[in-house]
Amino acid sequence: ATAMTTAVRSDALETLHRVFGYDAFRGEQEAIIGHVVDGGDAVVLMPTGGGKSLCYQIPALVRPGTGVVVSPLIALMQDQVDALRALGVRAGFMNSTQDFDERRTVEAEFLAGELDLLYLAPERLRLDSTLGLLSRGKVSVFAIDEAHCVAQWGHDFRPDYLSLSVLGQRWPDVPRIALTATATHATHQEITQRLGMPDAKHFVASFDRPNIQYRIVPKADPKKQLLAFLKQEHEGDAGIVYCLSRKSVEATAEFLSRNGVEAVPYHAGLDAGTRAAHQSRFLREEGLVVCATIAFGMGIDKPDVRFVAHLDLPKSVEGYYQETGRAGRDGLASTAWMAYGLQDVVQQRKLINMGEGDEAFRRRAGAHLDAMLALCETAQCRRSQLLMYFGQEPQTAACGNCDTCLSPPETWDGTVAAQKILSTVVRLDRERRQKFGAGQVIDILMGRRTAKVIQFDHDQLSVFGIGEDLSEAEWRGVVRQLLAQSLIAVEGEYGTLVLTEESGTVLGRQREVRLRKEAPRPATSRSASRD
Ligand code: ADP
Ligand code: ZN
Repeated sequence: ATAMTTAVRSDALETLHRVFGYDAFRGEQEAIIGHVVDGGDAVVLMPTGGGKSLCYQIPALVRPGTGVVVSPLIALMQDQVDALRALGVRAGFMNSTQDFDERRTVEAEFLAGELDLLYLAPERLRLDSTLGLLSRGKVSVFAIDEAHCVAQWGHDFRPDYLSLSVLGQRWPDVPRIALTATATHATHQEITQRLGMPDAKHFVASFDRPNIQYRIVPKADPKKQLLAFLKQEHEGDAGIVYCLSRKSVEATAEFLSRNGVEAVPYHAGLDAGTRAAHQSRFLREEGLVVCATIAFGMGIDKPDVRFVAHLDLPKSVEGYYQETGRAGRDGLASTAWMAYGLQDVVQQRKLINMGEGDEAFRRRAGAHLDAMLALCETAQCRRSQLLMYFGQEPQTAACGNCDTCLSPPETWDGTVAAQKILSTVVRLDRERRQKFGAGQVIDILMGRRTAKVIQFDHDQLSVFGIGEDLSEAEWRGVVRQLLAQSLIAVEGEYGTLVLTEESGTVLGRQREVRLRKEAPRPATSRSASRD
């Protein structure tokens, strides 16, 4: 890597002022841009909102030729290109939404050297016709956006990204810059390897988002909890509420609207027109809430999203970080709020157990879920947990801007409670014919004569009613934490509770189990707590 020459630096800075109207580069932008302008390859890991776009837009403007941007976000290309054109940048895109004439116009502009930036979807780029077109014109830089899509284990895997290694072979002299906001070490390695960029310089920005306050609360009546959170702290603010299913997206948007919070749904089951309308309302209006499945948000550039709420547990810490990262891109105080419950864990385990994919895939998915659980159940600073997950050393052990820092959870000796649960599981396990989940275990411990308890004579078990000292919510908390600590596991398609290798140490009184106390909260009906 060469140092940025004075001429290049002033070109880049001049472009930053003149075209984008900004005073100074942020963080590593200057170093990255200098490296790429000088012809070097770069792998850039920067959190959402960190300013990745300028890292390729400025080299594209400074170097002769057209910067080719590979992006999976077809729906956003028109917006991105419009925004650039408004700044006077000669930008175009080619994707499946265009008709023949539109595409021909863009091709002609590219060949005539009249484009600074050309956005392409990966499935278009790999076509021989597109590669041929690019060969006939002049490319200044290849930018591979959302580069984690090349990672096969990732949740955004796009097979078409695998063919992008051809770029380095066909255009060895054109610098390539791969960018992502997903940054585990494994993903990082995979990007470098699969895109064929062994000599790339790596730029890793801090993943800390100090203006985002992280909070995770036990789920009781999630929609009501969400409403209270919004009314108390984010009245009139724009935000995103993530739900796992389309049904709960619809129900939540409706519930919020009925209760005075303007909200619209967004999920893949809505027709394209409705989705586009809701998205553009969100971008243009001040205080709209979008209730969405994860289909919403990738690449959305709205700086003043004040909160991101999760009503269901994300599948991985990467997903959680990326989704919460959509809050507070303007640097102002924002909240990442999540309600999480035992049912989330059981549900996701079941999905993994029943889902597609081979054994290795299931194990990976399980490990992702475990890391997410550990974040939820920690009694330590959430921010430092997050940063350490991404391989970064936190600046302080306690950030002062997450729920566990703001009100440190009390812990208690849950060894006896854990033994009660494990002993019940042992007894149910003897009835091999029948599978029982957490609900039945808790009913037995609490001495409830439900139809299902009576049907299986579970009121005859010696453990029946030995857990009347704790509330249902507390029991659910205990089960959740045992799951997070791998002292118990969920198996099969019915969410059966089973022992783990570690369970024996608890049953044998060889270890103490420290649990965090459930935050006190209003009593809720039993059906609500099962939501
Ligand atoms: P990312 O792609 O990393 O999520 P963007 O490139 O969309 O982030 O940038 C996030 C926001 O920060 C945008 O609104 C962008 O205009 C702004 N921004 C980026 N770099 C600078 C800078 N050097 N000075 C001021 N604003 C910047
Ligand atoms: Zn903290």
